Amino acid sequence: MKKKVLITILIICLLILPVTPISAGSKARTLKELRSELQQLKNKKTSTANKKQQTKNQISSAKNNIANNQNEIIDNQQKAIDATNEIAVLEEEIKNGKEELSNLIETYQVANGDNIYLEYIFEASSYEDLVYRYAIMEQILNAQNEKIENWSDKVKKDEELKVELANREVELNNQISSLNKNIDDLGDKLAELDELTMDINDEIQSTQDLINYYVSIGCSETEDLDACVSVKGDTGWTRPLYKGKITSYFGYRTDPITGRAQSFHSGTDIGGNSEGTNVYAAANGTVGKIIYKASCGGNQVYVWHTINGKRYTTCYMHLLTINVGLGAKVTPNTVVGTVGGGRGTRGWENCSTGAHLHLGIGTGWYGQTYTSYSTWRSNLLSAKDVMKLPTSWSSRY
Ligand SMILES: [Zn+2]
Repeated sequence: MKKKVLITILIICLLILPVTPISAGSKARTLKELRSELQQLKNKKTSTANKKQQTKNQISSAKNNIANNQNEIIDNQQKAIDATNEIAVLEEEIKNGKEELSNLIETYQVANGDNIYLEYIFEASSYEDLVYRYAIMEQILNAQNEKIENWSDKVKKDEELKVELANREVELNNQISSLNKNIDDLGDKLAELDELTMDINDEIQSTQDLINYYVSIGCSETEDLDACVSVKGDTGWTRPLYKGKITSYFGYRTDPITGRAQSFHSGTDIGGNSEGTNVYAAANGTVGKIIYKASCGGNQVYVWHTINGKRYTTCYMHLLTINVGLGAKVTPNTVVGTVGGGRGTRGWENCSTGAHLHLGIGTGWYGQTYTSYSTWRSNLLSAKDVMKLPTSWSSRY
């Protein structure tokens, strides 16, 4: 019974064990899967670019709407000014019209001392004349009143228009604020999409680098990538030269070429060998990276190791010749290249003052666990300390 419980617990533990990914960011186990990941990233890049374009269009349409609203506000303000001016003119006309009306009445009253209208009407010579005169009088009064009423109506309409225009201005300004808010939000979205695009570009680049690397070391499309890059482990280090003398240590120093103090030295310089002397791999491993004729560092070989289960990369710089290919499986008896850095490498090298080996070491597999130079630089260690090198030696062990 007790045994059964223990077995169950063991099975549960095994089930929840994390699966080690082949490399940071990628779950692919074969080149084929890696290529499909790359395609997905490219699709994502396209759809992000589309989204960016869409957002830009939305921003420019919101800006157009704001411009339209602003134009309408300007037009409406002009209309309100026009209405105000018209009201002033009309009010003047109404005032004059009313005066005219009362003058008209007064004139007749002064002339006859009595109500001109009645007088005019009752002086009629016949009933027809009376009706006629009554009608004329009524017409004069009506015409004048009608004019005044029309002007008053027009004033009322202008006042209403002004209220309407003021309301519309508030409405348009509200729309402008909400459009501005919208533009702000879209700007944020655009910034996010820009960031996403940069991330995708980085991912595409590193996935493409990884594909190129696996292809270059001869992995097939369906082969397990872990198996393809497998590095034969080792239990310790072997000196990469039969004899040597440390001439410059890892870390901060005064640069021998520029004379700059506190300049970072990325490795341990080993002198005491003439150009062309064999340089050996410092342990079992796989050649993970080769750089040819860099203007500073010259020919360089990088080897991936697993020492007592821990990953390292060693690098051998200023080489006169490179004697291995990318992906080669090496042992401490493999010549990775020959000592350079002197006369023989002057044609391409500016960063060496004489024949020596620059030996670098860092944690992780540079080019596989990570690809950026800055990570490699921050992972660097002192070869003297890690490999326990004496200040000088005359045997490899
Ligand atoms: Zn150096």
